[in-house]
Amino acid sequence: GSERKGKLAAPAPLSFEQIGGQERAKQELVEALDFLVHEEKISKFGIRPLKGILLTGPPGTGKTLLAKAAATYTDSIYVAASGSEFVEMYVGVGASRIRDLFKEARQKAAKAGKGSAVVFIDEIDVIGGKRDGGQHKEYDQTLNQLLTEMDGIHTAEKPRILLMGATNRKEILDSALLRPGRFDRHIVVDLPDKKGRDHILRIHARNKPLHEEVSLEKIAEESFGFSGAQLESVMNESAIYAMREESESISQRHLSMAIDKVMMGEQTDRESTK
Ligand code: ATP
Repeated sequence: GSERKGKLAAPAPLSFEQIGGQERAKQELVEALDFLVHEEKISKFGIRPLKGILLTGPPGTGKTLLAKAAATYTDSIYVAASGSEFVEMYVGVGASRIRDLFKEARQKAAKAGKGSAVVFIDEIDVIGGKRDGGQHKEYDQTLNQLLTEMDGIHTAEKPRILLMGATNRKEILDSALLRPGRFDRHIVVDLPDKKGRDHILRIHARNKPLHEEVSLEKIAEESFGFSGAQLESVMNESAIYAMREESESISQRHLSMAIDKVMMGEQTDRESTK
């Protein structure tokens, strides 16, 4: 998402209930998190502890939301950064930022009296791209530091760290990141289907006055291929249209106009990046 992440982000509690569609991703994530929650049981069976969960899929589908909900579900502190924040001109700066991120998570958890911390790194491909044998020393050091931090995560350690990464380019990730004991859970977060779109629209309509003739199901049908972020924009734009016309509520027409606007916006974005 476009919101400000990293050190300034306030840890807003967010639950799975606020995430539309993505039923399978949510279920897989909860299953993985239950391993963390019941770690004593897991270790009795000698099962390898969970260290990293990788969320993959197109932009705006709810990966950040899932990471936040994971923190809420496990009663953890949430700390986030984007891969691009670690790209620096000077060798070693990225690596020390990684170290600081994990340190920040441990300190915040200790201060809040929490037993665990979720560290979320969006666009992890920016630092975790395939190493190419010395061409990019800076990237290598950053990635190596991330690997070191992951290897340093221990079950018995408190606060317990869970690393979550997100990418829409899984295929370029260095295989070292995907090895067992690192990001060994992969969860696909795809574009929503019609039912998912309907659910997402309903979530973002919660605080808005909809006219009683409005059919969000119809809007879900007309918005094939839209991401969650785009559907949120549709609801928001429709409210702006309604307000401009000084209507009492949002009508089906306002929603259709908003769909066109969001679709057009996408096209002009693509045109301008050509
Ligand atoms: P990116 O890869 O661009 O960071 P992302 O997958 O992390 O994208 P989010 O940041 O989670 O996407 O989503 C951006 C915004 O879009 C959310 O804050 C929310 O308003 C809306 N959104 C996206 N997916 C969903 C969803 N499944 N349910 C409800 N809202 C959603």
